Amino acid sequence: MLTDYHTHTPLCLHASGWPLDYARAAAERGLAEIGISDHSPMDGPEPFDEWRMQRADLPRYFEAVAEARAQSTIPVRLGLECDFIVGHEAWLDELAGLADWDYLIGSTHYIEPGFDVDSPRHVNRYTRTPHATEEIWEAYWAAFRAMAASGRFDFLAHPDLPKKFGHRPPGDLRRYYEPAIEAIVQGGSALEVSTAGLHKPVGELYPGDDFLRLAHAAGVPVLINSDAHDPSEVGRDFDRALTAIRAAGYTEVCRFEQRVRTMVPLEE
Ligand SMILES: [Zn+2]
Ligand SMILES: [Zn+2]
Repeated sequence: MLTDYHTHTPLCLHASGWPLDYARAAAERGLAEIGISDHSPMDGPEPFDEWRMQRADLPRYFEAVAEARAQSTIPVRLGLECDFIVGHEAWLDELAGLADWDYLIGSTHYIEPGFDVDSPRHVNRYTRTPHATEEIWEAYWAAFRAMAASGRFDFLAHPDLPKKFGHRPPGDLRRYYEPAIEAIVQGGSALEVSTAGLHKPVGELYPGDDFLRLAHAAGVPVLINSDAHDPSEVGRDFDRALTAIRAAGYTEVCRFEQRVRTMVPLEE
């Protein structure tokens, strides 16, 4: 019943495995569908950074997904993980028109030019001053809310990403989660529950249990993804994510085809 819609190819320069490799791995692990969602190219001068495909790579990306579709035993969905950066909305609209996407993922990595909060290169920024972590969280959630409220995406990736290295501001973090969930509801996206965080220093799902409970209470649909950067990671720890979403009250997950969402009940 489960799908894995968040996977990366060598075109983004930090992943291995082509769509067909992911499709085979997913079929072996008993997944119902696989989705490919490499890091989107950006507008303006390239390279924008060192961890995404460039605009000229898009035709190769589409070919690789088509090749997987032709040979896979399970459906292969075409997606893209798009960075939402204020001021680049027109580019997102252009990207949305470039292919018959099954889904577009919205991601917040950047909170200011050159500062992607999940890059190990910036990990010292979290502790540079007594309030640095709080300031990063503030900026991150403001960017996340703008992305969620934009309504441009079918689902949103790894919501509480700035906890990646284990840095969290003091106090009740619902002050960040509640407005973020309001923005998700406003924009109408679903939410990814990502098992990737289990393999980062924080050792937790994205999002954590508190966020997930609030999302369920607000009626936000979810799906489980691995954010695989190698075929060996497809479907990884989905049992743990299933336990978490059930505990939060979920009884179904969503799938996407041609940007239309359908709900699939969780098996008993
Ligand atoms: Zn990703
Ligand atoms: Zn990546």
